[in-house]
Amino acid sequence: MAVDPNAPYDPDNIFARILRGEIPVVKVYEDEYALAFPDIAPQARIHVLIIPRGSYICATDFGERASEAEQAGLSRAIAHVATRLGVTGSGYRVISNTGADAGQEVAHYHLHLLAGEPLGTKLIRPNAK
Ligand code: 5GP
Repeated sequence: MAVDPNAPYDPDNIFARILRGEIPVVKVYEDEYALAFPDIAPQARIHVLIIPRGSYICATDFGERASEAEQAGLSRAIAHVATRLGVTGSGYRVISNTGADAGQEVAHYHLHLLAGEPLGTKLIRPNAK
């Protein structure tokens, strides 16, 4: 079921549990602001999720409530992850889904970093005429 960005933050969502160490993940990168780990259902040869440590539901929530340091920290984490993965030269895509139309499934803000092969069409509009 798609995430309702207006619902209260659910502290038992899967990424909150990963942050608390209740569910093990392979840590690609971590610092005081962010954690990065492989997506369980990769959509490219490299598919890593980058999440803030703070409790934010989506891009809107993060943009409105996260501190300047948290926002800068998440942005810098993208660069750290890309460097660690060795894809800064070959390229990569960072996307984020918010709410029903975007198909957001997990109610903790996250960025998808996709890389490792040509990624094809930038935006697929299934209902485009
Ligand atoms: P969304 O659709 O919300 O933008 O993306 C959620 C992503 O989280 C999906 O790509 C999905 O495969 C991934 N995911 C869901 N549950 C887990 C999990 O338990 N572990 C990991 N590593 N990824 C998960």
